Amino acid sequence: MAESLVFIDSGGVTAMALVVQKYGGTSVADSGRIRSVAERVIQRKQAGDDVVVVLSARAGDTDRLIQLAHQMSERPDPRELDVLLSTGEQITIALFSMAVMDLGCQCVSMTGYQAGIVTDHRFGKARISWIETLPIREQLETGNIVVVAGFQGYDDLGNITTLGRGGSDTTAVALAAALHADVCEIYTDVEGVYTTDPNIYGKARKLKKISYEEMLEMASMGAKVLHIRSVEFGMKYHVPIMVCSSFTDAPGTLVTKEDSDMEKVMVSSVTYSKHDARITVTDVPDVPGMAARIFRPMAAAAINVDMIIQGSGPVPGRANISFTVPKSDFARSMEIAEKTAHEIGAGAVHGNPNIAKVSVIGVGMRSHSGVASRMFDALSRLNINLIMISTSEIKVSCVIEDKYTELAVRVLHDTFELDKEPNGVLKVREE
Ligand code: ADP
Ligand code: ASP
Ligand code: MG
Repeated sequence: MAESLVFIDSGGVTAMALVVQKYGGTSVADSGRIRSVAERVIQRKQAGDDVVVVLSARAGDTDRLIQLAHQMSERPDPRELDVLLSTGEQITIALFSMAVMDLGCQCVSMTGYQAGIVTDHRFGKARISWIETLPIREQLETGNIVVVAGFQGYDDLGNITTLGRGGSDTTAVALAAALHADVCEIYTDVEGVYTTDPNIYGKARKLKKISYEEMLEMASMGAKVLHIRSVEFGMKYHVPIMVCSSFTDAPGTLVTKEDSDMEKVMVSSVTYSKHDARITVTDVPDVPGMAARIFRPMAAAAINVDMIIQGSGPVPGRANISFTVPKSDFARSMEIAEKTAHEIGAGAVHGNPNIAKVSVIGVGMRSHSGVASRMFDALSRLNINLIMISTSEIKVSCVIEDKYTELAVRVLHDTFELDKEPNGVLKVREE
């Protein structure tokens, strides 16, 4: 691996940086967009930086490929599905490289395999295990702009794998970490990270910076502006991540280490997710080992169980266990839960896919109380029933009926006055 790619030239004034830039689906949606991104990248290269570009598939292409697969099979083979899905990104890297060359610049495209991105075996949600950086570095040394297909890698048996929806962010940050890049820039269709999804609430405010930890909670709780694992890589390897728009030159949001300013804000964002479903196993014998029996087969099936609540049911000696799973795994999770319930002598299994999770997040919560009660008050004033609640050091999440999602997001944003620029004085509610 390169020791450091930052150097001072003989005049002692120019610093060359290695930059990884990622452009999402809407940023490369058609030939016009691809050409305009090519021009941006060339400008950066001509300013003296080395540039590695990571591209997503054109907006809608991954969805179209999934639909195609379902025309062939109700449950497409996971290996073949990844072979198919990886083609979306191969279209953009080739088209983009042609555009760059047409504008008179040196450029080379690389698939995940050619870029040395090695993953585990989990088709559709593979994790990057390591990156062989030599092929990219060799291309950079010859003066090429290197264009890497996002969202894909290969396992140690040579199978093509994909990293899960939104995974091109993770390709970019992982490459930035492995190449010791100076910055990873994520270009998207909004101007940065906002206090909530700007497409849901017009009063959302763009943040100048946000800590890795808050961004990780935001991504985990549904803010799709960054893929969760990209933030994990950023935090672990201290990669500064700049989120900005590929459509404007407005300053973006820096995802970085926590600082004392950030702690002064009790709540920095509100997020929502409609990607989960709830399952309840009723009348579970209240004896040691039952939770393990229920969740072991879920883990074995690589199903990511999130919130878990156990409460005593109406029958003495019996408990109800409720938990959430990704909606995409709902049918399989129900099958597994029903089988286990039968084996352990539990009662009926109920499923509800019509739920949403709304969360408030902020590192300031560590040192200040009262956020949860303020959140519950605000939701109760709208008569929104809280189905499940979970908290972490810097987050409070509530599961509610999904029809109230947008309303809940707006009222929480107003309650914590997130549209206002923080003035450094922490507001604590007067009881
Ligand atoms: P890309 O295709 O560039 O990867 P995504 O659609 O994956 O873009 O992510 C950008 C979208 O994330 C925005 O259009 C916005 O609707 C959504 N989003 C959700 N929460 C936030 C937030 N807090 N700040 C900014 N964008 C958000
Ligand atoms: N093309 C993939 C998707 O649509 C990966 C990405 O865009 O990050 O999810
Ligand atoms: Mg994305």
